[in-house]
Amino acid sequence: MTAMLPRRSVWGIICILSFLLSVAASATADTHTMTKTCTTLCRGLPGLTPAECQKSGLEPSGAFSNNGFPILIKEYPPVRSRKPQARILVIGGTHGDEPASVFTVLNWMQKLDKYHSGLFHWKVVPLLNPDGLLKKKPTRTNARGVDLNRNMPSPLGGRGVYQRWADKTDRDTRQFPGLKPAGEPESKWLVKLIQEFKPQAIISVHAPLNIVDFDGPGPAPTQLGRLRLRRLGNFPGTLGNYAGEVLGVPVVTLELPSDSTPPSSAELNAIWTDLVRWLKAGIPVSHPDSAPARKVTSQGVAAE
Ligand SMILES: [Zn+2]
Repeated sequence: MTAMLPRRSVWGIICILSFLLSVAASATADTHTMTKTCTTLCRGLPGLTPAECQKSGLEPSGAFSNNGFPILIKEYPPVRSRKPQARILVIGGTHGDEPASVFTVLNWMQKLDKYHSGLFHWKVVPLLNPDGLLKKKPTRTNARGVDLNRNMPSPLGGRGVYQRWADKTDRDTRQFPGLKPAGEPESKWLVKLIQEFKPQAIISVHAPLNIVDFDGPGPAPTQLGRLRLRRLGNFPGTLGNYAGEVLGVPVVTLELPSDSTPPSSAELNAIWTDLVRWLKAGIPVSHPDSAPARKVTSQGVAAE
């Protein structure tokens, strides 16, 4: 004879089963999304296999590029019983024609996969500009022809940045800042990520100037691997200007020697080791030597 369950318990079991089914369904949907995403991504990154991409642990951030491609992220969160020394954001592929920066960040993710000890809390975005990378002929700019590293909020506001671009670059289309700061889905999401995650240092990987650039407070790294410090000065709308100068977050910009060929494995190790050593010694910055951070809206500095 079957035991009768009270009606409440039956409903409880039904609720639990529906919840488990919905979790399983969403996990399947995520897996499906990542399979599709990785297959497409690997077309733009010869040398990366879909299997490696899927194994990387990258996940959709919830944000999409202009063309609807998911922007992927991986978090290396704090570990139990260890307070992280600082929060660090790593970004590659801001410019779609610099695949070496994406490979570099993916390589460092493999190191974090093995050695993440909880010393830092990391968020890693290997490819901010998938549309530029996935074009038949990859471009520095995004799908709408905007340079994402000129489209960050600026104290000059949208009009000021546009004017500066027109005057100083002879209207170089490769550096077009767009008409509205943080007006692109990719840059808007990056600003939101910075506001929410509150990184205490940002590592942004570019190419091919073969140097280390630095913006913001605190001592700059003088050398990372073979890359030596050379301050380029920053342009309004760049990440260095927005995060470094305006928000007061140290921003290390690595300019790899080649935009298409990543550094050797030994050089990637050397840069990573030096970078972590530099972070460990000086981040968070205890005595910022620059002006205190100001609040910036997408149109400019907020009135205080
Ligand atoms: Zn670049």
